[in-house]
Amino acid sequence: MENPSWVSGEALWEWRRVACQQVSACAVNPQEAGAYLRELDWMLMAVAEVDRLALRLESYRNRPAINVERSLADLSTLWQRRLQEKVPLQYLLGRTTWRDFTLAVAPGVLIPRPETELLVDLAIAAAATMAVEPSHWADLGTGSGAIALALARSFPQAIVHAVDASASALTIAKQNAEQLGLADRVLFYRGSWLEPLESLQGKLTGIASNPPYIPSALVPALQPEVARHEPHLALDGGTDGLEFLRVIAERAPQFLQSGGVLLLEMMAGQAEAVADILKQSGCYCNIQIHCDLAGIQRFAEAYRI
Ligand code: GLN
Repeated sequence: MENPSWVSGEALWEWRRVACQQVSACAVNPQEAGAYLRELDWMLMAVAEVDRLALRLESYRNRPAINVERSLADLSTLWQRRLQEKVPLQYLLGRTTWRDFTLAVAPGVLIPRPETELLVDLAIAAAATMAVEPSHWADLGTGSGAIALALARSFPQAIVHAVDASASALTIAKQNAEQLGLADRVLFYRGSWLEPLESLQGKLTGIASNPPYIPSALVPALQPEVARHEPHLALDGGTDGLEFLRVIAERAPQFLQSGGVLLLEMMAGQAEAVADILKQSGCYCNIQIHCDLAGIQRFAEAYRI
């Protein structure tokens, strides 16, 4: 824990009581209140040595001292920013858990979503069917580095090439690679999609990408946590949302080795269009669409002929 300080269970209990009252005052309906209260406890579990059961039973109240990562005054400021400014909790804490690891996140990068974890499972399943060992993979639009780092953890022999247009995203992604001890196998490039990977033409085992895919007009209407605080560069997929999915699908064949796999994340309602783009290219076979855990057609998979 960073700069831990000690507070009494009673003080933490009182802090939480006030925070719960603030939720009641600002939530517009019981669902929203319930969601905020769950987040409040996630925040406490992230910063203090308390678990869900202790919070639920309020048994922590009797403890003489609890280790807390931040002062209660700081926590109050964070909680106010969560409620009033709708800043996502992950930005307030500066980190999120994703798959089996923790990533630093900041407003310069999209907060990795749980559904995107499945893109990595698809990559692992695809690699298991290939005749060749995974050697070079690419993650296009890496953001916090989530996909690239998960690929590097899953394929211990592979080099992962992670590309992003944003310098601030790359700073965070590199920090995450160092933190996870993967800086020697995850290489970072600043640029547009496959452009910086010129020297890898025909050499990639796989390409994975969660590009911006939200139609421009819908971006401002996303929930305030997303629309106001997450980088629009990572969300806005142009007029029809398909602009970058198209660019990647069209350029990837030049970079994939024969039998190499392209894995894309997309939005609900885009599956047919994306499958069409892949078919039209004439360079792919075995084109498949996969659902996320909510049953939304979320991923496209295609193999280089
Ligand atoms: N899945 C993200 C969202 O729901 C969007 C990510 C993206 O555009 N690639 O906001």
